[in-house]
Amino acid sequence: MRRTLILDENRVSPYTNLSMSMHSEFDIDRDWQPDRRGPVRWILSHASRYKLWMVGMLVGALGNAALAAALPVLTGRAFDVVSARPSDLAGLAQVAGLIVLSQLVRGLALQMMRNLCSETIGQRMERDVRDELYISLAGKSMSFHDSQSTGDLMARATNDVREINMMFNPGVNLVVGSANFLLMPIFIAPTIHLHLILTPLVYLGAYFFLVRSYLSELRPVAEDVRRMFGWMNTRLVEAIEGVETVKGAAQEEREVERFVGAVAGWRDAYLTQADVEARFIPLLLLGLLQAAGFAHSLLLFRSGAIGVGDVISFNGLLLLFGFPTFAAQFAYSRVSSGIASARRILELINARTELGQNEAGYDAPMEGAVVFQDVTFCYDTGEETCQPDAGVTLEQISFRVESGQTVAVVGQTGSGKSTIAKLINRTYDVDGGGVLVDGVDVRDWNLEALRRQISIIEQDIFLFSRTVAENIGFGCPEATREQIEAAARAAQAHEFILGFKEGYETVIGERGVTLSGGQRQRLALARAFLTQPAILILDDATSAIDSETEDRIQRAIERVSQGRTTFLITHRLSQIRWADLIIVMRQGRVAAVGAHEELLETSPAYRNIFTRYER
Ligand code: ADP
Ligand code: MG
Repeated sequence: MRRTLILDENRVSPYTNLSMSMHSEFDIDRDWQPDRRGPVRWILSHASRYKLWMVGMLVGALGNAALAAALPVLTGRAFDVVSARPSDLAGLAQVAGLIVLSQLVRGLALQMMRNLCSETIGQRMERDVRDELYISLAGKSMSFHDSQSTGDLMARATNDVREINMMFNPGVNLVVGSANFLLMPIFIAPTIHLHLILTPLVYLGAYFFLVRSYLSELRPVAEDVRRMFGWMNTRLVEAIEGVETVKGAAQEEREVERFVGAVAGWRDAYLTQADVEARFIPLLLLGLLQAAGFAHSLLLFRSGAIGVGDVISFNGLLLLFGFPTFAAQFAYSRVSSGIASARRILELINARTELGQNEAGYDAPMEGAVVFQDVTFCYDTGEETCQPDAGVTLEQISFRVESGQTVAVVGQTGSGKSTIAKLINRTYDVDGGGVLVDGVDVRDWNLEALRRQISIIEQDIFLFSRTVAENIGFGCPEATREQIEAAARAAQAHEFILGFKEGYETVIGERGVTLSGGQRQRLALARAFLTQPAILILDDATSAIDSETEDRIQRAIERVSQGRTTFLITHRLSQIRWADLIIVMRQGRVAAVGAHEELLETSPAYRNIFTRYER
């Protein structure tokens, strides 16, 4: 059984583009779902939520172009008026008045409407896409997050989302706005003289042809730029997260070189895009067109088919092509980048994860009995998964824990202890066999109910940049201050918290407030006291604690383990000795199970570990 991401047939991308059967650990109910079958459809379905704004943008753009076309037409009329009767000031004033009026309406109403609408669509879509992406990321399985680089993910969540906004403003705004400028000469030129449609028509054909080939050239380049940006971000995050290691090994210079390399890669991709943009030919074509149009209209004038005013109007109309031609150069690249970004965001959203939420699943107060039945599991490292002898993390694990027992899991590093913990709350799903909690397979539990009643405290405790109180109350947002303080007392954390200047209101990570490993552990224990889980798993949770606080922690753990099933993954003899049950792990298999005295007699593996720890 494939456990994690479903890979494309050709394995080009670890994602699928199908959204039909999207599973997620949780989905926030929304009455509206976008069409996720492709980047363009996805963008359109998002945009379709703002139909009125779209209409506003279109009307604004069309009106703006129409009044822009009125300018040369009216100028031509003015010439006619003056050449017919130079003294006709009233006629001239009338035309001038019309020009002023049309341009006022254009600038104050229509352009503003177009810009306001496209800006609104852009901003709202950015917000919607951000929400959608965050909800989707929060719902992905751990297998998915294991396979992601933080830097690339951040690049997608920040910059690519931003590109969607820019795609609408200025991108689509200019495309729509300028498209109308392309149409106006086609409609108006033949009203001057039928033959005059020739140059605009030729230009329009050439324009479409050239823009199409420009876009197909631009597309892979725009995608490259987005990809290189993600890659640069990956390097950046590694450089920052790993800064201690880098400094420790005095590798700053080499790391800087590597980062500079990634930056150069991004710059090169951008320059390639600039190069493609610079070779945009319609600008050249525009000059030729205006010369040809001028010649054509002069020929018609000489043959007496049109007047001076018509020549002026027509050549003024041809100037309208300047805007779409100029705007196309960067407007289309915005749209192209937007689509490339949409594709990258959709890849994340559509990546399938197999951990189902199972909302209809079993949901009851948990007793805490845990049974492993012949469990096999392996981490999906992108290679062929679960090959016998290669890459299997856990094999044929079976044991039974009664509700309320304290279980010590011991074994060397890498023997699979933490993995066992992660299978109990379905951070990962087993590949073979089953994990039962209260006699029900964890996959048949409602995932939320299962996780709510199980707490895992890991060695590496994550604290949010929020107040101490908020960190303790994280799993239990409705907890009162009294409850939080009681939990902190029970976890022996109260005193050191009061040692901070602002006590429980101290924001962790701010103004140099950092916590030692032991303090972090105690905050995590306080979290566990507060949520009162039926099953508590302490994964090496006391390894970072100095011996001075050890006794107090020991007491805290004894207290917290009362009345609940507790797994202690530990090296501490004091904890192992008093456990009801000890599971000895060795290279992904259970080497022995039993109580301390029993194991000392029967299990050489346990004796071995025990004597080694004792030293
Ligand atoms: P322990 O907690 O006993 O030290 P773990 O359960 O953490 O051992 O790890 C068991 C094995 O699984 C190790 O070989 C480890 O390298 C591997 N492993 C642990 N976590 C992952 C992961 N997220 N992806 C791939 N392999 C992993
Ligand atoms: Mg571990």
